[in-house]
Amino acid sequence: MRMKKYEFWFVVGSQFLYGPEVLETVAARAQEMAKELSVSLPYPLVYKVTAKTNREISEVVKEANYDDACAGIVTWCHTFSPSKMWINGLAELQKPWCHLATQYNREIPNEEIDMDFMNLNQAAHGDREHGFLGARLRKPRKIIAGHWQDEDVRKRLGDWMRSAVGAAFSRQLKVMRFGDNMREVAVTEGDKVEAQTRLGWQVNTWPVGKLAQTMDAVTDAEIDALMDAYRAAYDFATDDLETVRYQAREEIAMKKMLDEEGCMAFSNTFQDLYGMRQLPGLASQHLMAQGYGYGGEGDWKVAAMTAILKAMGEEGNGASAFMEDYTYHLVKGQEYSLGAHMLEVCPSLAADRPRIEVHPLGIGDREAPARLVFEGKEGDAIVVSLVDMGGRLRLICQDIHCVKPILPMPNLPVARVMWQAEPSLTTGVECWITAGGAHHTVLSYDVTAEMMKDWARIMDIEFVHITKGTTVESLEKELFLNDLAWKLK
Ligand code: MN
Repeated sequence: MRMKKYEFWFVVGSQFLYGPEVLETVAARAQEMAKELSVSLPYPLVYKVTAKTNREISEVVKEANYDDACAGIVTWCHTFSPSKMWINGLAELQKPWCHLATQYNREIPNEEIDMDFMNLNQAAHGDREHGFLGARLRKPRKIIAGHWQDEDVRKRLGDWMRSAVGAAFSRQLKVMRFGDNMREVAVTEGDKVEAQTRLGWQVNTWPVGKLAQTMDAVTDAEIDALMDAYRAAYDFATDDLETVRYQAREEIAMKKMLDEEGCMAFSNTFQDLYGMRQLPGLASQHLMAQGYGYGGEGDWKVAAMTAILKAMGEEGNGASAFMEDYTYHLVKGQEYSLGAHMLEVCPSLAADRPRIEVHPLGIGDREAPARLVFEGKEGDAIVVSLVDMGGRLRLICQDIHCVKPILPMPNLPVARVMWQAEPSLTTGVECWITAGGAHHTVLSYDVTAEMMKDWARIMDIEFVHITKGTTVESLEKELFLNDLAWKLK
């Protein structure tokens, strides 16, 4: 995956006051830390400089801004590092920034500690001077405090790296639209100029007729090869191989058009399938399994967000999927949301090996399509929704717990995921509706709410988090204040 090329730069603050020996020690330790941290981080941390002057900081920032491989900088002050010399550099910084408030030594050594030790190991006050400047400049930054060898510190630093890579991915993301948004639907609409300005997305349309032509040009040999891939990954619960082969034809044609334009996300709509015999089901599902983002009913926002969460996840293609809140189970004490879509649920969510089935589809006026059917796996997850509030974008995130579906639902012909929502199903729904969250979401098992908060901070968009502790009253207040704040911004 293209995410693999990214790295992060370690910029360590110091000053000349303590003499060359201290500076050599700081540089050697910073190098050692970067090397050791890189072993357990998803992307390499590369030691760059022990910064002692305004010029050194400005230069490393300029270099970082224009280096495509650099996805962000991590700063730390081993000694005191007067912050006025950081102003010019940080004011120019365009890459994500993490302030790692750590310390080389874990313990205060009882016998060894003297004033030389104190002058060398000053992060406790050096990082405060550094932090003041970040606050004073109103620079968005992630702050992580703790010993650099601790597992939780490494996990959080790694997660922040994934968010920063999600930002880099977002800024070069292209979305291919087949057809427009579903007629009359509001929440799937949005300002594509604002989305590109803020998030970098290039959202454009291609004719469904061109897709139909590209499908006609797909060869039997290409379809045979993709059928082998389907057989390797899925069980065939149908004898209707022609229908499955038609989905393969659609997948091959869509992938050709996406790859030709460098698009990592696409949307389509059942209202515009001109020249196509089936709504893509299995075709879209298998494209999602390969890391492409998808949105139904022309929902290009959720298509882009699906691609971004996939890129942020494990191995650059995590367990994140386009999802829709479909129907509720409202039995007291047993309240669940059932998520699915007409066809297009990504098999990265599957608890077991998915089955290929063919069933009629009441919507779209086309032939019965092949689709993957499975149950979603158990585990903590989030659902996120990006909505256009007019003048700004709002990202809503809710904590959920996926369960094994409590009913077998043998006649439901689509993949399904069942979950409990925080703080409860009904209060969660009240909060979601209060915030204007969409029916389409991205559900993710491996991207966390903290990662989405960091991503939203980097992209400079509003972030709303519905958690165990959220009440409708607190959320209404937060949204009211957010409205005021974002009008002033
Ligand atoms: Mn839908």
